[in-house]
Amino acid sequence: MGRALVLNATYEPLCVVSARRALVLVLKHKAELVDQNGGMFRSERAAHPVPSVIRLKYFVKVPYRARASLSRRAVFVRDHFECQYCGSTAENVDHVIPRSRGGTHTWENVVAACKRCNTRKEDRLPKEAGMRLRSKPSVPRERIWIIVAVGRVDPKWEPYLVPLGAAARAEAAPSLAPA
Ligand SMILES: [Zn+2]
Repeated sequence: MGRALVLNATYEPLCVVSARRALVLVLKHKAELVDQNGGMFRSERAAHPVPSVIRLKYFVKVPYRARASLSRRAVFVRDHFECQYCGSTAENVDHVIPRSRGGTHTWENVVAACKRCNTRKEDRLPKEAGMRLRSKPSVPRERIWIIVAVGRVDPKWEPYLVPLGAAARAEAAPSLAPA
């Protein structure tokens, strides 16, 4: 059926909904159609383009979050499901500075790792284990919540996903006004 990106009245990406739900919002004049995926919804009386991007006509206040929330899946997405030590498929989340040694559970201290590297590293620092991180872990970009939510970014959404500020407004999935 497809999904649609929902933009705030300010064009800021808000959440992802089913294309059907997006159409309902458009038909109820709660949102305007910004882009469509080329398909049509047909009913007995009418045909409507299937939305791929809609924009709300009212402004939804998004609770400000300074950081994207840290989850196992989000770490995997940020690290492209690759072990940050050897590049093979990640299966674990590794604390760069082990928790047993005061390492924090933060974006800057967790990386995706394969089972082998994770086991090999044990409770050591990468340096102590003779291992090297391929990149320095950091707070992910804003769009990560979309990828975490739906697994991929529709190319039609790309123009609307330019980061709007330094702060990640991750997992911003505010409840829409009742349809
Ligand atoms: Zn590895």
